[in-house]
Amino acid sequence: MTDIVKMKGMNKYFGNLHVLKDIDLTVSQGEVVVIIGASGSGKSTLIRCVNGLEEFESGHLEVDGHPLAPKSGNPKALAEIRKEVGMVFQQFNLFPHLTVKKNIMLAPKKVKDAPETVANATAERLLNRVGIGDQADKYPSHLSGGQQQRVAIARALAMEPRLMLFDEPTSALDPEMIGEVLDVMRELAKEGMTMMVVTHEMGFAREVADRVIYIHEGQIVEQGKPDDVFDNPQNERTQAFLSRVL
Ligand code: ADP
Ligand code: MG
Repeated sequence: MTDIVKMKGMNKYFGNLHVLKDIDLTVSQGEVVVIIGASGSGKSTLIRCVNGLEEFESGHLEVDGHPLAPKSGNPKALAEIRKEVGMVFQQFNLFPHLTVKKNIMLAPKKVKDAPETVANATAERLLNRVGIGDQADKYPSHLSGGQQQRVAIARALAMEPRLMLFDEPTSALDPEMIGEVLDVMRELAKEGMTMMVVTHEMGFAREVADRVIYIHEGQIVEQGKPDDVFDNPQNERTQAFLSRVL
């Protein structure tokens, strides 16, 4: 099986703060990995390293065959990785001055030189796929949070990513909108997308994840199938965390 992400002995510091400690993590094609852990444990930093949004100090990271050297020593690989990895943040980060459809068309046109007609057709197809084909010509501020986050997912998908990263994609949403975003993610997972997801939605993790990873103070202290991690956590830190959130 192809490995999309390979991390070996990865260390990351912010100044003196040792944020990621000797992380070994492999994600294979089609796998859905959910990362859980307390606030400040390094979850965002970990997935931001995967698409080069953060540099790391030592270790080895390879994304879809492109090696990323410590201290971003490989700009060419970084450019390739950014094309192949889609990312969805807690804040939707849509361009407010562009319509929903133009938001989705932008990257394929700029980065992939997609012709207008092709980019347009892709945007329409993706908007239908995330259930908001009728919102194409609106501006982001006229959409609900759940709709905006679905646009953000469609925008990432427009680049035909090999890997999707999600960093707490539902944390900024009103409760009634969380489900519609998780539904889109569930569909993506079913269709075989390789995904790394940071979330506090434990029901989603249990249902959709192939593997759950628990991070504590920058270290992977436990990982396994969701039922094993949730029902029978081995590490006392995991037990304490789960007893707070479940
Ligand atoms: P999580 O996503 O699990 O809440 P983060 O990866 O955001 O955790 O942060 C891990 C640690 O790194 C925290 O102590 C946080 O304060 C620190 N940190 C995150 N980003 C920065 C930054 N840009 N500069 C300095 N410290 C940071
Ligand atoms: Mg975070």
